[in-house]
Amino acid sequence: MPPTSVPNPTTPVRRAWTLPVALAAGLLAGMLLGWLAGGRVVLGVAIVAVAEIVLLLTRFGHVAQSIMPAPARAATPRHDHLQMRTRRLASNLRDLRRTASQLPDAVVLLDQDQHVRWCNHAAETLLGLRLPQDRGVQLRQRLQASELAGWLQQGGEREPLHDTIAPGKPDSQISVSLLPFGRRQQVLLARDTSHVTRLEQMRRDFVANVSHELRTPLTVIHGYLELIDPEDAPALAPVLGEMRAQSKRMGQIVEDLLTLSRLETQHRVEDERVPMAPLLATLRKEAEALSQGRHAVAVEADAGLDLLGSPKDLHSALSNLVSNAVRYTPAGGSITIRWRRSDDGATYSVSDTGYGIPASHLARLTERFYRVSSSRSRGTGGTGLGLSIVKHVLNLHQARLSIESEPGHGSTFACHFSPERLLAPTAGHDES
Ligand code: ADP
Repeated sequence: MPPTSVPNPTTPVRRAWTLPVALAAGLLAGMLLGWLAGGRVVLGVAIVAVAEIVLLLTRFGHVAQSIMPAPARAATPRHDHLQMRTRRLASNLRDLRRTASQLPDAVVLLDQDQHVRWCNHAAETLLGLRLPQDRGVQLRQRLQASELAGWLQQGGEREPLHDTIAPGKPDSQISVSLLPFGRRQQVLLARDTSHVTRLEQMRRDFVANVSHELRTPLTVIHGYLELIDPEDAPALAPVLGEMRAQSKRMGQIVEDLLTLSRLETQHRVEDERVPMAPLLATLRKEAEALSQGRHAVAVEADAGLDLLGSPKDLHSALSNLVSNAVRYTPAGGSITIRWRRSDDGATYSVSDTGYGIPASHLARLTERFYRVSSSRSRGTGGTGLGLSIVKHVLNLHQARLSIESEPGHGSTFACHFSPERLLAPTAGHDES
């Protein structure tokens, strides 16, 4: 640290004019004293002049001493205090470095051009960096062959990179984030998430296996229930009806869980053209079949665009929203399916005039088995997994879901697709 000049509190602060004025005043006083002492004006002036010269020499002596270089001076208590503080700061800094180097998470300090300034032990293990060899090396060049380099190139500060292979430990996965630090510098943090990823994988496998195992027995039970004719045992007819409905619901839950497991493990979809005009016509028919004349169903489609993605998954997601609108709108209400261009792509939306959803529930609706009203959901044959499936399908198509709702007035569920997912329709597919 460069030495800073500390003003000496014992040095009087004088203005430039004080010295000449003091000298003149002294001489005048000398003249006056000389005259009073019997007209010896010259003698009075001389005595005062000598006194002033002595005073000035003493003063200059102090000033010369105060501007002498530090080592020439004797150590002062203040100097000792400064030295002690410097030593304490250096020791704190050492402790801080030692602590950071022992952190289980990787920490890399980067300068404004993402050159490595320092990293800890975990960074050496997880990212494969070595100090001092890698000091000053540009990080994205050093990690060139990894997904991390591409993420750094695209300005990783925007969002963290999750579950990527650790460049220095290929059997581990890490989550990485980049934070601004100091003056245009950055600190890169990486955490080993292999354990969490393994647990997540175990959960997924468990759900998929259980669902798969349940599928066959449920199909058998449902099949036998269908075979029994309620007229053969009229007393059991209501029980039989309930058993059939419940086994059908269980079958649907199993199917939805299997769909979710598949969507979760999938990272991308096979892109195909999804002609929207016939799809919208199908969705309308499905809504009318489910509603059985209890609602007015309308389609407004003026986007004049097709989608690019998985026809099966997109149909499943878009029809889920239609089925929810029918199930959560009392008889006499209306349902409108829209497909429109928007400022940033195109939007598919389903509006209803149904029960609506209180704002406090909106953020959690896409969680598995989250329901605003369990009895209403079960009463209408819901599995509690529909919106979760919608969210996963949209994620795979880089689209997002937005929900607007007012209790008692209805809801609008909208899927926003970006321009990369839109295609001009080919001849032969009319908008309905
Ligand atoms: P469910 O099978 O229960 O309908 P979803 O995941 O499709 O499961 O929906 C989750 C919950 O969101 C539903 O239980 C319901 O409470 C609420 N919900 C979904 N769509 C609507 C809608 N159009 N109007 C009112 N509530 C809705």
